[in-house]
Amino acid sequence: MKTILPGQTIGIIGGGQLGRMMGLAAKEAGFRIAVLDPVMDSPCGQIADIRIVAPYNDEAALEELGEVSDVITYEFENIDYEGLKRLTQIAHVPQGAELVRITQNRINEKAEITASGAPVANYVAAQTFEELASQIAEVGFPCIVKTAFGGYDGKGQVKIDSEKDLHEAESLFTHSACIAEAFVPFTKEISVIIQRNAEGQSYCLPIAENIHKHHILHESIVPARVHENVLARAEEAAMKIADHLNLIGTLAVEMFVLENDEIIINELAPRPHNSGHYSIEACSISQFHQHIRAVCGWPLRKPKLWAPSIMVNVLGEHITPLSKAVKDHPDWSIHLYGKAEAKEKRKMGHITIMTDNIEETLEEIEATSIWS
Ligand code: AMP
Repeated sequence: MKTILPGQTIGIIGGGQLGRMMGLAAKEAGFRIAVLDPVMDSPCGQIADIRIVAPYNDEAALEELGEVSDVITYEFENIDYEGLKRLTQIAHVPQGAELVRITQNRINEKAEITASGAPVANYVAAQTFEELASQIAEVGFPCIVKTAFGGYDGKGQVKIDSEKDLHEAESLFTHSACIAEAFVPFTKEISVIIQRNAEGQSYCLPIAENIHKHHILHESIVPARVHENVLARAEEAAMKIADHLNLIGTLAVEMFVLENDEIIINELAPRPHNSGHYSIEACSISQFHQHIRAVCGWPLRKPKLWAPSIMVNVLGEHITPLSKAVKDHPDWSIHLYGKAEAKEKRKMGHITIMTDNIEETLEEIEATSIWS
């Protein structure tokens, strides 16, 4: 396992908030940060030592990042796979390119999760709408049709309740091939963030329960309010997937919990995840510090939860009411990502609250009316 040490440079593809929080964690230990992003003043660019301003798939810019960096990581999966693959031949990219190839395409992702032995919803993959129509009986209704490429926060998917509504999915195929999966009548959504180094040492962060509003993550509650059996099953499934994929770095595994406490894997993200932000304050090691350890070839630390926690996302429309509320909440840890424009629904930051009483704190959050 190649070890990267403080003073050396970590290159990050992508300058968003995840890159920023990775970079901040790395800088604590004295690493230098280089970032590739199309925007000079990106959230990560603001804290980086070296900024390469170019599109993510710009070959010369990727090469330049390789030249100035001792190790390269990425903060999002929708980067150009071919570009990343080329970079693995000329620079140290311990995570490789394969995990990006798999997770940027839902068809590949489902196939790999299935091959790992972890459970997924019944699904079919289709290149064309006609192919979908001919196979949909295998999945039944209601179902969700999702584009294979490029969907996030509920974009690029439609719920279909019956055969006569299937035409509503037709326009998705102008974007890419699709999958159709059975609608899962879940009781809760949870996520396991698993991190692994090149020696196969791996740890899961305490499992988060995720509450979405308008398809965007609103709150993560840790520990998830589910039976212990669910936590054990969820960790076991995440471990299976991480081992199957020979994970190095971070994998977020989003799951549905069913009424009978069984779990179904929804999707994967090969990077630190919004539902793990609570770990910055609430754990003995944050997802960002652990990610840096994993890609720098350091031994990992077993995460320990200091206190039950709630993370709440701050979107553009929450910035003004939040600023007014700051003075009343010394117990809120406030993280803003340095984005200039507070557009509606744009993720601008998050807050984390450690608490002895989750239910009471949830009520207090509601009572502020910042998020209502
Ligand atoms: P995704 O982009 O796959 O994470 O889906 C966004 C959200 O849509 C999830 O967080 C769920 O709330 C919902 N969803 C996705 N797939 C399903 C499904 N098969 N059954 C029920 N709800 C789903």
